[in-house]
Amino acid sequence: MILIDGKKAAAELRQELKHEVTGLKAKYNKVPGLTVILIGDLTPSQIYVRNKEKSANEVGLKSEVIKYPDSVEEKTVLEKIEQLNADETVSGILVQLPLPKHIDKQKVIETILPSKDVDGFHPMNVGNLSSGYESSVPCTPLGCYLLIKKVEPNLSGKKAVIVGRSNLNGKPMTQLLLKENCTVTITHSKTKDLKAECLEADIIVAAVGIPELVKGDWVKKDTIVIDVGINKTENGIVGDVAFDEVSKNAKALTPVPGGVGPMTIACLLKNTIECFKRLHK
Ligand code: NAP
Repeated sequence: MILIDGKKAAAELRQELKHEVTGLKAKYNKVPGLTVILIGDLTPSQIYVRNKEKSANEVGLKSEVIKYPDSVEEKTVLEKIEQLNADETVSGILVQLPLPKHIDKQKVIETILPSKDVDGFHPMNVGNLSSGYESSVPCTPLGCYLLIKKVEPNLSGKKAVIVGRSNLNGKPMTQLLLKENCTVTITHSKTKDLKAECLEADIIVAAVGIPELVKGDWVKKDTIVIDVGINKTENGIVGDVAFDEVSKNAKALTPVPGGVGPMTIACLLKNTIECFKRLHK
């Protein structure tokens, strides 16, 4: 079984991106800039943002974090986004989710210029992705896609089963694999026989949020299994896939932690660079 090393893949991707930033700096005499807006003091969000800033600096991006207290007015955040939209030194804008209840998430997402939407959440990017046009792609499914391609460069005709239909993971994952000519089934909480669906799959991507939902006998031999889940349990962090069982059957499997997670941040940096390049085309 191939243990898909997300940490290594992310380090390699960051190295490539660092090279690319050096080239862009030489060509344009400026570097892509990523601005993250962090609202409130939720510890996981703070940790994510710190990691994003560290990785951005590592590849040579200009990075900035704007912090607001929980009580910040929605209007203040929207005005700041408008300012960043107009700022030529900012290539990508990310507002760290979740947001306090009094701030309308959709309004925030739609205020970010689609061309600076490094999360790929703006409806225009969602539409472009599903129409097969150039767009920002949400970072986690993009990371999953790159990991799958490392194991199997030609995905044409493969049967993929996506478990979970969130806007963040399942739906964009479906679009990415459709583009690669996979036959994609997207499953969710109302799917009648999830095990039977998974048993048909050459590729399974599990993005559910239920510890070890995908069992060993749900996976046929030679299946590539990507585990997006991050679940805190008494035994520590586990994924949505029963790792020990599934590793006996699968062709390749991502561990949790150390699989998809590291790729998510590296793909954010990739998206920032892509936004910069599209802006300078
Ligand atoms: P989400 O928005 O809660 O969506 C979960 C999806 O799973 C929904 O579509 C839901 O179906 C489906 N589902 C729930 N129970 C199910 C069941 N028994 N069988 C089949 N499908 C079921 O979750 P998310 O934001 O996509 O996150 C999923 C997991 O990924 C979480 O553990 C999260 O922490 C993790 N995550 C990891 C990363 C990373 O970088 N590694 C990034 C983001 C998220 P319905 O639509 O019918 O409700």
